[in-house]
Amino acid sequence: MVMLGHCLTGMSLASRPYSEHLDTLIEKIGVVPLEQLIGDLLKTSATALNVERVSFWSIQDDGAAMRREHQYTLSNGEFDTKSLLLTSAALPIYFSSLHEGMSLIVSPDAKSDPRLQEFQQGDFGYLQIGAMLDTPVHRQGRLVGVICHEHVGGPREWGARDVDFARHVTQWVAMAMEIEDRQKVNEELRESEERFHLVMEHSPTPTVVVDVQTGLFVDGNASALSFFGVDRARLMEHSPMDFSPELQPDGRSSRDLIETSIKEALVGGSPSFEWIHLNIHGDEIPAYVHLSTLPHGDSPKVIVAITDRTEQVRSERTIRRALENERELNELRTRFTSIVSHEFRTPLGIIMSAIELLRNYFDRLEIDRRKELFDDIHSATRRMGVLMEQVLVLGRADVGKLTYTPVPIDLPTVCEKLVDESQSATVMRCVVDVHFENDLSGAMSDEPLLRHIFTNLLSNAAKYSPEGSIVEFRVRRDGHDAIFEVSDCGIGIPEEDQPRIFEPFQRAGNVGEVSGSGLGLLIAKRCVEMHGGQIGFVSIPGERTTFTVRLPLFP
Ligand code: ADP
Repeated sequence: MVMLGHCLTGMSLASRPYSEHLDTLIEKIGVVPLEQLIGDLLKTSATALNVERVSFWSIQDDGAAMRREHQYTLSNGEFDTKSLLLTSAALPIYFSSLHEGMSLIVSPDAKSDPRLQEFQQGDFGYLQIGAMLDTPVHRQGRLVGVICHEHVGGPREWGARDVDFARHVTQWVAMAMEIEDRQKVNEELRESEERFHLVMEHSPTPTVVVDVQTGLFVDGNASALSFFGVDRARLMEHSPMDFSPELQPDGRSSRDLIETSIKEALVGGSPSFEWIHLNIHGDEIPAYVHLSTLPHGDSPKVIVAITDRTEQVRSERTIRRALENERELNELRTRFTSIVSHEFRTPLGIIMSAIELLRNYFDRLEIDRRKELFDDIHSATRRMGVLMEQVLVLGRADVGKLTYTPVPIDLPTVCEKLVDESQSATVMRCVVDVHFENDLSGAMSDEPLLRHIFTNLLSNAAKYSPEGSIVEFRVRRDGHDAIFEVSDCGIGIPEEDQPRIFEPFQRAGNVGEVSGSGLGLLIAKRCVEMHGGQIGFVSIPGERTTFTVRLPLFP
């Protein structure tokens, strides 16, 4: 505006009203549509310079053509926006002069000007161009258009100020084009930012933006706010470190991982990795993060998209547990098959061969031998009966048919009875020393359940100890509880078997030929639990074992 003002001050042609008119036009740059503004500039130039036709042409095809965009005709005051294309093929001389030097064509006599001779003939003759003043529109050093002043009739001398005025009009056109382009770019940028924000805001993926210089969050979508458990204002006060544990599961420090990945993102990478996030309540949330840089003005920013892996981790865990269960079930089935077949086949074999002998050689057998064979049959049958009984008890427990019904009992008498029963079950293999250490009166319990517990523990103590050794059975009262200890000096339970010894069909590796089902301890444990008690053991392999049972028998 200053430049034009200066330019117009010294111009005899540009009377005051034109300069004012130009001033108002200049104010319209960037406000009114470009096409309208160019039309007004063409009109102003035609009027100021008193030229019949002033037109604006845009350069096309890398300078091989030019298209008329707009024309003003002074005599009828009309604008014409009909497009007209001139090509270098049709007007080679004119085009080559246009691309020479500054592209300015000042021709006082078009008829004799060799540069314009093509306009005097054929299709262009009717234009009656007498003099021509073409001023180039340059942008960034490139010819992008021409403003063409066509004087009709005879020759016309173009004064320096005419040329100056025309050139200034072209400069304003160039500037108006530039401003419109920038406005377009800004508009596109704004639209793209709006689009980005819209997408980001409504994205179900928690997404945050971190300012690399301050290390603080500068933006976060709705999903991120609910993921982080804070509102937008509070999010901006924090950095990613405030929502991270000291260390990540792989042992790396969270700070180290954040810094390395930001660096990687800043050089164009898009690092993504598993991440443990700490929400505002201090809960650890498994996540997966993906970083990339955000093309954003002056200070670099990183955009972080977070995938909450809680559900994924949960289902992975469920699948792993299901597989584990399946594996355990298979193992259980294998143990069941091997124990049941062994525990039936062996006694059945014994029974069969004893019966064979008795049937075929009864008369020839000594009385003692006969008795021996009958005893074999008896204990083999008993062995099978025990297994059947155990399986049935567990079956009843599983369907809830094994119940705990406490009634007043005389605990020492019941204990003595159970010792006798286990003694006869193990054919008096060991001596059981019973000690009642204090007053046990007033106990309430369910005798059948006590039987399942202690016949199993006492029989085991005898089964896994040397014949004739002593098994200790100690009973005492401790407040509301009765404490029972069954100790033996037998083979003990190897350490590697101890953790799983209460599992079904689980037998230790050192049992050798001693028969068993691996169900007794499981039944004992179930019955203890039905009392609301506890069972445990201490065993030194090769030395001794003590099982301790605590039952709340004294109300
Ligand atoms: P089982 O019928 O095999 O004796 P249990 O469930 O009663 O089944 O016991 C499980 C396993 O625990 C036994 O096979 C044995 O390996 C071990 N065990 C139990 N009690 C004793 C004990 N007093 N001494 C050594 N090992 C024992």
